[in-house]
Amino acid sequence: MHVVIVGNGVAGMEAALTVRALDPHAKVTLVSEESDHFFSRTALMWVASGQMSHRDIEPLERDAYPRRGLERLRARAVGVDVERSGLRLLGGETLSYDRLLIACGSRPRPGPWPGSDLRGVGHFVTLQDLEWYEAELHGGPSHAGGPPRADQHLAACPPDSPYRRREVAARTRGSLSQAPAVIGGGLIGIEAVEVAHARGLHPRFFIRDEWFWPMAIDAAEAGWITERMRAHGVHVHLEHEVERLEGDAHGNVARVVTDRGSYDADCAVIAIGVVPNTAWLSGSGVALDHGGGVIVDAQQRTNVPNVYAAGDCASVRWVTGAQRPEQLWYTGRDQGRVAARALLGDTGPRATYARPTWYNSAKLMDIEYTTVGLVNMQQPGEREWFFEERSDVRSTTRIVYTDAGVIGFNMLGRRWDHSVLAGFIDQGRSLTYALEHLHEAAFDTELVPPLVLPKERGPHPEFQAH
Ligand SMILES: Cc1cc2nc3c(=O)[nH]c(=O)nc-3n(C[C@H](O)[C@H](O)[C@H](O)COP(=O)(O)OP(=O)(O)OC[C@H]3O[C@@H](n4cnc5c(N)ncnc54)[C@H](O)[C@@H]3O)c2cc1C
Repeated sequence: MHVVIVGNGVAGMEAALTVRALDPHAKVTLVSEESDHFFSRTALMWVASGQMSHRDIEPLERDAYPRRGLERLRARAVGVDVERSGLRLLGGETLSYDRLLIACGSRPRPGPWPGSDLRGVGHFVTLQDLEWYEAELHGGPSHAGGPPRADQHLAACPPDSPYRRREVAARTRGSLSQAPAVIGGGLIGIEAVEVAHARGLHPRFFIRDEWFWPMAIDAAEAGWITERMRAHGVHVHLEHEVERLEGDAHGNVARVVTDRGSYDADCAVIAIGVVPNTAWLSGSGVALDHGGGVIVDAQQRTNVPNVYAAGDCASVRWVTGAQRPEQLWYTGRDQGRVAARALLGDTGPRATYARPTWYNSAKLMDIEYTTVGLVNMQQPGEREWFFEERSDVRSTTRIVYTDAGVIGFNMLGRRWDHSVLAGFIDQGRSLTYALEHLHEAAFDTELVPPLVLPKERGPHPEFQAH
């Protein structure tokens, strides 16, 4: 059997490793346009801010492919011939498959404004974005350095590829960025701000909404992070609608213009979300949802026989009933494993994707962040319990619950073990139980004083159930 996988991100790689573990004889070919090596996209920030090298964010050894008998093809997939079971590659070659897994990830959503293509404007999603942003801020790899990548072929990527190399304004200008701007208030935007801050700069952060990352955090939580960002010298511009980017006489970005004013910027990161990287599938017969995600069932099967999809590009059924991509690292990993089993003919429970209680953690400036379960999802009958700690440690605890038990946790300022919090949700624990057992999820070192919740369960100046 020949298994062809488009994408060597976490979904594609996990699928390849699972196929190999279950079938030592299957021929497995990974097609990748972005990088020869599998790397952790979630860790791009640590490279850009100089804390990890490029090599540090590659979870596998560099000879992983030959050692595991996986073939790697540096190429761009441009279509699928579903009648002849062939993957079409740029340059005219067609790769025959018995099973095809589409694991081609996301691409950054392009800026809709005039000037979005000026030199010095970019994104922060791909390795090539990282290379560009490092060049604008550091003049080359950040001070963490690291071995040169083997994927120099990307200089030849076509202009519509999210993996193409791009020109650097700092080089034409002859000076590094001093006034970077970040547009878009999601996690990627916050990380791009942190990278600039780590370089000792005072970036401008433009957010259209009343507060940033409204999908994940509420006004009070965002208020605290905004305060911390401003204390670090970040210019946070809330409720600013960007209208255009303006350039100088050499085509370098020079200003961001919003409905509130015009701001100098010599580098701009557009971070307004990602979209499935699936334009190459149009016309192939593989069904896509309205946002471009490849529609799959619980076995990660598409509408086309022997074609599967997993990871950021796959449109799956959510607990809320919606059909859309999940775009998370660990769900991509799980989907890759399920797809591998399913395409080998397994029909058991391990070949069925059951979305686990979801979690995520990040560091927003120097504030720890953990979220577990359904937060900001407006579930029927939900209420919230909120406590703000202002002692030696500053933290917030937000627990979302219904009559049936707790359904979500949003925690800022302290480190928490998400698996314990997910256990409370999966076991249908009540709010009272969760509060009494919250210390079991505490993940802080012995040097951090434990969180002391107010004893009263009624109205209290420091906590509110709302
Ligand atoms: C800055 C940043 C921070 C993040 N932080 C978090 C986080 O804290 N937690 C979290 O859960 N998630 C986070 N994510 C999201 C997470 O990284 C993704 O959900 C995950 O990496 C998706 O994996 P994937 O395998 O589906 O796709 P990708 O990692 O995007 O891999 C897809 C691969 O497909 C290949 N490819 C695509 N198109 C073609 C083509 N036409 N031809 C050939 N090859 C092709 C490319 O080689 C590419 O590498 C973050 C993302 C970013 C950008």
